[in-house]
Amino acid sequence: MRCRICGAEAAVRLRYANTALCGEHFVRFFERRVERTVRKFGMIESGERVAVAVSGGKDSLAMLYALSGLAERMGFEIVGITIDLGIEGGRYSERCVEIAVENYERLGIPYKVVRLSEYGFTVDELARARLRPRVCSLCGSVKRHLLNKIAREMGASRLATGHNLDDFLQVVLQHYLFGRIEELAKFYPAIPPAPGMVSRIKPLVETPERDSMAYVLLKGIEYHGGTCPHARGATSLDLKRALNALERDHPGVKFSMFNVYIKSIYPLLSREYMSKIEDVGACEICGEPTSARICLFCRIREAMKKRLKKSN
Ligand code: SF4
Ligand code: ZN
Repeated sequence: MRCRICGAEAAVRLRYANTALCGEHFVRFFERRVERTVRKFGMIESGERVAVAVSGGKDSLAMLYALSGLAERMGFEIVGITIDLGIEGGRYSERCVEIAVENYERLGIPYKVVRLSEYGFTVDELARARLRPRVCSLCGSVKRHLLNKIAREMGASRLATGHNLDDFLQVVLQHYLFGRIEELAKFYPAIPPAPGMVSRIKPLVETPERDSMAYVLLKGIEYHGGTCPHARGATSLDLKRALNALERDHPGVKFSMFNVYIKSIYPLLSREYMSKIEDVGACEICGEPTSARICLFCRIREAMKKRLKKSN
């Protein structure tokens, strides 16, 4: 196959667009698409400080590199945040942090590494405590809490996460499957700020997962390719497999699903449920935003304190 633009040997085939591109033109296409997404959803204005959440995986690193080029063109500033979740299997968290830091330093981006253990527990301990059947939902809440807090403390007005098109659709399907309609009504690529909450943005939301992989490989970016040991058997992985099977037989179906959600489903749901979405107040313990009296992070922390005291 040949590159559609220059006729050189193609490096990436894009079945959803019925085309192929060489390495150089694919990288350019990838970065332009991120820019288009950022502008289309009004994700970043010039002069802003954007906190980029980097896990060390291919998506967050692809986002970091694409945004660092865009930052110069659009005139915004980037800072990095990495959370060490304390997952030991195969030195998982340790390697994730090392790789994130290497890339921040390569790009000259200021960053902060936050260790969950500083708050008295790790994700491995959380999994052993079995507060919920699967640790991922708690881990997700812990990450959201810390990323928001640190981004705000670093003076950022936006918090960018590396969720790609596949991640976005998987969450839409998961909310649908479990009937979490109010969650769906709040689920959008760019969430405006609220009291104590930094605006959350997903610059890769129109980027298929496979393209992030091609981008990091073609740019020679070192990333952590391992899978978290707690991911096994998660519904999210099954949903992604189902989406990939659909895409294989119907190229472009992921983009169609995304566009239908953005143009038809989200506007309806958000109109219907906006008034029912609970007001956000401040947690009585840590002061972070929450719709309950005590935020979920503080409740997890308290439960873990009791468990760990009992086991010592
Ligand atoms: Fe956390 Fe689950 Fe992701 Fe592992 S797979 S990092 S436990 S959300
Ligand atoms: Zn709290």
